[in-house]
Amino acid sequence: MKYHEMEKSEIEQSLNTNVSNGLSSKIVENRRKKFGWNELSEGEKQSAILLFFSQFKDFMVLVLLGATLVSGLLGEYIDAIAIMAIVFLNGILGFFQERKAEKSLQALKSLSAPQILVMRNGVWEKTDSRVAVPGDIIKFASGDKIGADVRILSANNLEIEESALTGESIPSVKTTHPIVGSNPTLGDLSNMAFMGTMVTRGNGLGVVTATGMSTAMGKIADMIQSVNTLITPLQRKLEQLGKILITVALVLTLLVVVAGIYHGHDAYTMFLAGVSLAVAAIPEGLPAIVTVALSLGVQRMIRKNAIVRKLPAVETLGCASVICSDKTGTMTQNKMTVTHLWSSGKTRDMTLVEDPTDKWTTDNEMKQLLTFGVLCNNSNIKVRGEEVVVDGDPTEAALLMAAYQAGIQQNILRQQFLIEKEYPFDSSRKMMSVIVKDNHGKRFVVTKGAPDVLIEKSESILWNGKQRLLDSQLIKEVESAVDGLAGEALRTIAVAYKPLQVNALPQREHEVEKGLTFIGLQGMIDPPRPEVKKAVEECKQAGIKTVMITGDHVATACAIAKQLGILKEDDLVMDGQSLNELTVEQLEEKVEHISVFARVTPEHKLKIVTALQNQGHIVAMTGDGVNDAPAIKAADIGIAMGITGTDVAKEASSLILLDDNFATIKAAIKEGRNIYENIRKFIRYLLASNVGEILVMLFAMLMSLPLPLVPIQILWVNLVTDGLPAMALGLDQPEENVMKRKPRHPKEGVFSRGLGWKIISRGFLIGIVTLIAFILVYYRDMSNLPYAQTIAFATLVLAQLIHVFDCRSEISVFSRNPFGNKYLVAAVVSSLALLLVVIYVPALQPIFHTVPIILSDWLLVIGMSAIPTFLLAGTFIFRKKSNM
Ligand code: ATP
Repeated sequence: MKYHEMEKSEIEQSLNTNVSNGLSSKIVENRRKKFGWNELSEGEKQSAILLFFSQFKDFMVLVLLGATLVSGLLGEYIDAIAIMAIVFLNGILGFFQERKAEKSLQALKSLSAPQILVMRNGVWEKTDSRVAVPGDIIKFASGDKIGADVRILSANNLEIEESALTGESIPSVKTTHPIVGSNPTLGDLSNMAFMGTMVTRGNGLGVVTATGMSTAMGKIADMIQSVNTLITPLQRKLEQLGKILITVALVLTLLVVVAGIYHGHDAYTMFLAGVSLAVAAIPEGLPAIVTVALSLGVQRMIRKNAIVRKLPAVETLGCASVICSDKTGTMTQNKMTVTHLWSSGKTRDMTLVEDPTDKWTTDNEMKQLLTFGVLCNNSNIKVRGEEVVVDGDPTEAALLMAAYQAGIQQNILRQQFLIEKEYPFDSSRKMMSVIVKDNHGKRFVVTKGAPDVLIEKSESILWNGKQRLLDSQLIKEVESAVDGLAGEALRTIAVAYKPLQVNALPQREHEVEKGLTFIGLQGMIDPPRPEVKKAVEECKQAGIKTVMITGDHVATACAIAKQLGILKEDDLVMDGQSLNELTVEQLEEKVEHISVFARVTPEHKLKIVTALQNQGHIVAMTGDGVNDAPAIKAADIGIAMGITGTDVAKEASSLILLDDNFATIKAAIKEGRNIYENIRKFIRYLLASNVGEILVMLFAMLMSLPLPLVPIQILWVNLVTDGLPAMALGLDQPEENVMKRKPRHPKEGVFSRGLGWKIISRGFLIGIVTLIAFILVYYRDMSNLPYAQTIAFATLVLAQLIHVFDCRSEISVFSRNPFGNKYLVAAVVSSLALLLVVIYVPALQPIFHTVPIILSDWLLVIGMSAIPTFLLAGTFIFRKKSNM
């Protein structure tokens, strides 16, 4: 079907739809059966079985499996089966870890699925774009992502960026006229809008012509279906580090094997012990646990209303040193109420008006101010008995409510006036205009917007019923009225108009929005969100500066910034005009002292981000509109608003705030810091454990002792002791001081802040105490090697399980309540229980080569295993005391 060639009525006919009412639910259901959901089919996913088998593709695991197979064939059935079972369990654990990571990434994808505004059964509804079927009537506006292929039926200054399809990044201007001609390319189809493209300007309405895989995007979907799960900088560092760790582990293992054979151990036993040691000591599970910790952290963030779109942002969040945040709706409630009106030099305090039909409403200018505020307005007011409901943009809703209180009703005005054309609001122009025709056929322009902008566009002003020239004297008067309102933290909107002389409708805004007659001002309160002040203070303690960036008036912005503790005495304020006059280099010199940028346009945000980044800052930047997207993209953490944000802003962002709330940014940063700290915690735990395991074997072999641990015990330690507690550390709560420290340096290495030392010292001590326990018991009764091995096994396990509590804190094991992490307590208790099971259950003793430990020897085991953690914690306390 060539919809682009058809007239509106032909399209309606061929798609069997109706522009005014849309489709009925019944038809939608039938079409859904026929055409399916409006979604691009996913590329091939790795099947569960493949994912499971991929757990065993590691080289050392394969060697171990090979070696156990050989030992099985040689008659060591029990060992072989036990080792295989453990490797299998390890595989299952890895499988679930990866599955979980994959699932949560998938869930994130669906959370950020685009929405559409569709007409169904005569009512507009906002829903998931998945539900669209051919024939649906949909509306779209600047910032929206087009949800299906659409034939455009009405367009107001509509421009769409189609680079996803055509590669052309300059937006194409869209129209509604049929296009005839041979084989136009996608780029030529100016009356069509395609799935996945972005509206950058204006708004429009159209009928869905194709959905899902039948869309232009669907046809090339296979080419673009590369699921780019970005890996985080830490994951990359760990990957590199992993290679080094593997080499070190292999070299040391080899040393263990060579030393063992040299001192007369049987080569085959040493080989199996060596391979088991290698499997246990190589931290191959680390990247998977890191991914799980990251994605679990991401889940926790969702519960706090922050959606992470790009995983690396989780880490970068912990480095953020500046948050640049919008004011309206993010720091304030976005619940606006008009409290003051100003016209002809008189101010009315609406809060003091008791009788709305008071005589002031007969004042002509005031009436016109309110009436025009309703005409130039996209929101709707509905009155149901006592209840008055307004929907749409809060600024516009406030204007409707103010007029309603004065007895001016939107539905009546709509009968008297026809809106012929709209020039939508955008944050760069800071105004909106409509062309209105009254019942007598007279046309005029009504504009509302930022007062300073409207003053410039006005030539005259209505003053006590007369039109006067807007000279410098009157401009001053208007400006001082604006300052007066703004100084009380009120948001100000000016209203102006102009009769149109000619019949032809002017096309571009700059022709319409000039030579206006100024009418007056409406001032509205937008109270700060109560939680923001505390969040700003917490950020400050965490070394993070908060900067307010707003399109609002300087005085309004300053008043609110002061209330929220953002603007302090020595801080600077800069407006958009001054910002224009500075180069980025000049801005850099001051930028660190500026707390408020007011009357800026979204385009300024990029300059601010660049200046801050050049000063070495890691910048989080919020935004909602199309023009915010470049700054959101350039920021280290681009944040889009979930409620008011456009699809374009969301697409550019790495974090979405579901509640548009500044406090959520703080919560996300705290979580980001915590996730990173938790990852450090289990890296420390796992590596210290591995160091301990290798060293006990190495020292024993160098000292010509028997093997302190048999292969199955080593593997057991790896599975039970290392796996569960490490995962539990990934779920740990933040330390109290997590928001009292400076942001982390983004280039910080994995082992910085003493982590490397902690790993080596604790690991060394764990190895040594295990060896000492082994030696003491072995020399007491050399005929009972399995008993000494059981003691070594128990000491190693217990030393690690005690050390895990030390890993929870950067400061000391005593600085936190050991029972604070219930997952960890559960993991440690179950690991301990399993240890007792393999030592005391007779059926398991031959498998694990264990012998029951007598009670008095537990004292030795417990005493020894406590040393690595408490010795160093003790020296810490001692040093702290002697420093006092
Ligand atoms: P922030 O960037 O913190 O969200 P903001 O919402 O005040 O600030 P804009 O939306 O760009 O920034 O608004 C800038 C100015 O434009 C406002 O101070 C107001 O005077 C005017 N304005 C806001 N909304 C409208 C609207 N719907 N129609 C006309 N003018 C508007």
